[in-house]
Amino acid sequence: MQIKLLINGQLVAGEGDVQTIFNPSLGSALMEIPEASIAQVDAAVLAADAAFEGWSQTTPGQRSALLLALADAIDANAEQLARLESQNCGKPYNAALNDELPAVADVFRFFAGAARCLQGSAAGEYLPGHTSMIRRDPVGVVASIAPWNYPLMMLAWKLAPALAAGNTVVLKPSEQTPLTALHLGQLLAEIFPAGVVNIVFGRGPSVGEPLTSHPKVRMVSLTGSVNTGSRIIAGTADSVKRMHMELGGKAPVIIFDDADVDAAVEGIRSFGFYNAGQDCTAACRIYAHRDIYERFVSKLGEAVSTLKLGLQDEEGVELGPLITEQHLQRVEGFVERAKAQPHIQVVTGGKRADRAGYFFKPTVLAGARQDDEIVQREVFGPVVSVTRFDDEAQVLSWANDSSYGLASSVWTRDVGRAHRLAARLQYGCTWVNTHFMLVSEMPHGGVKLSGYGKDMSMYGLEDYTVIRHVMFKH
Ligand code: NAD
Repeated sequence: MQIKLLINGQLVAGEGDVQTIFNPSLGSALMEIPEASIAQVDAAVLAADAAFEGWSQTTPGQRSALLLALADAIDANAEQLARLESQNCGKPYNAALNDELPAVADVFRFFAGAARCLQGSAAGEYLPGHTSMIRRDPVGVVASIAPWNYPLMMLAWKLAPALAAGNTVVLKPSEQTPLTALHLGQLLAEIFPAGVVNIVFGRGPSVGEPLTSHPKVRMVSLTGSVNTGSRIIAGTADSVKRMHMELGGKAPVIIFDDADVDAAVEGIRSFGFYNAGQDCTAACRIYAHRDIYERFVSKLGEAVSTLKLGLQDEEGVELGPLITEQHLQRVEGFVERAKAQPHIQVVTGGKRADRAGYFFKPTVLAGARQDDEIVQREVFGPVVSVTRFDDEAQVLSWANDSSYGLASSVWTRDVGRAHRLAARLQYGCTWVNTHFMLVSEMPHGGVKLSGYGKDMSMYGLEDYTVIRHVMFKH
C-alpha cells in the first residue's frame, strides 16, 4: 500500500514533520507518515484552482459517471479499506465492512444521481422586455476538513457533493486517521483528472490553517469540534469564504411513560455505544419519565453490561477503544467528576478497561441533573447519563437547554405528542422511536453551536453551489 499525498494527480511523499499513527486497540505505533509542507499545501490549492475551469464545465452526466466509477472502486476495495479503517480507529472490522463501507459507496452513488437533478428554480419575465433565469454554479476550490471518528464516511460526505456540483477539492483527513483517505487517493488518481481532488495530510495548525486561509480557497467544509470551527471562521473572516460547519452534539433522548421500554433500551444499547460513543449524534443524554425511570435504568444497565468490548477482529465484538490515550483520559475525567457527585449512581462501567489499548467500559450514569457537566458537555465516549423527568413541558425545556442542536429522539406511542415535540425540539434532526438512522437522501446537520450547512441530500448538494441571476433584454 502506498501512503502518499495526492497533489495535481501525482502521489507524492509529504515533506513536512513526521507524524506517528497509532493502533488504538493496542496502544502501539502503526506507522509514520510525513505531513504536507506549506509549499505542498499551496501546490495542492493551486492545482485545484487550475483544474476548476475544466471540471466546472463538465456536464453533470460526465461528473456522475466518474462518481459512479469511484463508488465501484470503493466496493472493489471494500475489504482493504475496512481493514485499514478498523486498524486505524480500533473499530470492529465487521462494522467498518458491513455498516460503513456500503454507506460510503452509497453516498457517492446518491450524489452521482443528484448531480443530474440540480436545477435553478425560476425563469420568467419580471420586468417588461426582460427574461431572468437562475443558475446554480460551483463555488470554486473547496477545502474539506475531516475528523477521526468515521474517517472514510466523513470524507465521502464532503467529497461527493462538492465534486458532483463541479467544485474542485483539497481534502485534509484527521492527523490521527489518514490511512483510508490516503489509500483512496490511489483510486481517485486513477479516476479523476489531475487537480480535481487533492489530499494533504497533517495537523490543524501546520496544514489545516494554511489550507483554510489560502486566498484561492472559496469554501471551507469542516466536520469537527466547535473550537476548530470557531477558529477557522475567525481565521478566514477577512477573505469572506463560504463556510459549511458540522460540529459537535449532545443528543437528548426522551423516553415517555407510554414508550416501548425494551425498544428504547435496545436502541440506546446500539446507538449510544456505536463507535464507542464517538459519534456526534450518539444517544447519550437520556431523559426517562418518572413512572418508568427505575425499570428503564435497571434494564439499560443490564443491557449495556453485555456489550462486548474487544479487538477489531474478535468474534462478536461490539465496542472498540477510544481513539487516543489523551481522549481516554478526557472521557475518564468526565466520569470521575460525575462519580464525585453524591446524587449520581454508576449503574454499569465507570472506568477504563483493564487491558492494553485505550478502552473504556460502556458506562451508564443514573440520577444525573440538568446542570451537571455530564448532561451539558459532549463526552464523545461510551458513556450515557439518565435524568428523571416529570412532564412534557419540563423535559422539552431541558432538552433544548443545550448549546448544541444536532440530533434528538423522542420515544412514545402518542402520535400527537411526538409531533408536538418534533416541532419544538431545537435540533437539526428528531427521530421518533429510533435514533441514529441516516440515509443519503435526507439532510444531516445542526443548529446553534452544532453548526450550519447540510451533509447529504439535495440540500447538501445545493450548499456546494452559488445561486446566480442572469437577465436577458429582448
Ligand atoms: P477536531 O476539531 O479536533 O478536528 C477535526 C479536523 O479539523 C481535523 O482534521 C483537524 O486536523 C482539523 N483542524 C484542527 N484545527 C484546525 C485548524 N485550526 N484549521 C484547520 N483545520 C483544523 O475534531 P475531532 O476531534 O477530529 O472530531 C471530533 C469532533 O467532531 C466532535 O466534536 C464531534 O462532535 C465532531 N463531529 C461532528 C459531526 C457532525 O456531523 N456534526 C460528525 C462527526 C464528528
